[in-house]
Amino acid sequence: MNHMPYQGWIFEDRRTLDKADISALQSHLADCAECSALAEGLQQVEQVLRAQPLQGPTEGFTLRWQQRLEISRQQAHRRQIWLTLLVAVSGGTVLLGALAFLLWPWLKSLDLTLWAALYQVFTAYLFLSRAGEQFLLALVSAAKIIPLPIWALSIGVLCQLGVLWVVSFRLLTNPRRIALK
Ligand SMILES: [Zn+2]
Repeated sequence: MNHMPYQGWIFEDRRTLDKADISALQSHLADCAECSALAEGLQQVEQVLRAQPLQGPTEGFTLRWQQRLEISRQQAHRRQIWLTLLVAVSGGTVLLGALAFLLWPWLKSLDLTLWAALYQVFTAYLFLSRAGEQFLLALVSAAKIIPLPIWALSIGVLCQLGVLWVVSFRLLTNPRRIALK
């Protein structure tokens, strides 16, 4: 039996078919078990689809989705921070361990080294204080030798040099110098 064009018509909207086609289709469906089964199956599928309308997104779906996205983003961010901290801490521990291992002989004799260093600092302090005393003494004797006008003059020159230095430094580092060009 030839099932064309009836099987095509079964899937078409009945309103698009003309009366002659519809009556031909109905007489074919009455005779042909295959095509009538097809038409029945299609009808059942359509009924099921009509009974379950497509579910749109529920109220606030977008908002909830955005909130969930934000939460997962924050979680990822926190995880990243923890990972970074973990790497930094473990790296630091490894580094400290390696340093302690390398410097162990030195660390064992730390008190000796410390005393030696303290002695060096003390000696340097003594030397510097003695040098400072000598410098002050020299300054005092110079003050006695050099007359007062020369002192005043040299102090004035020093002040002017200082002012000149400050002004030139500000001019050189002023960002407006570039903007005015
Ligand atoms: Zn048929």
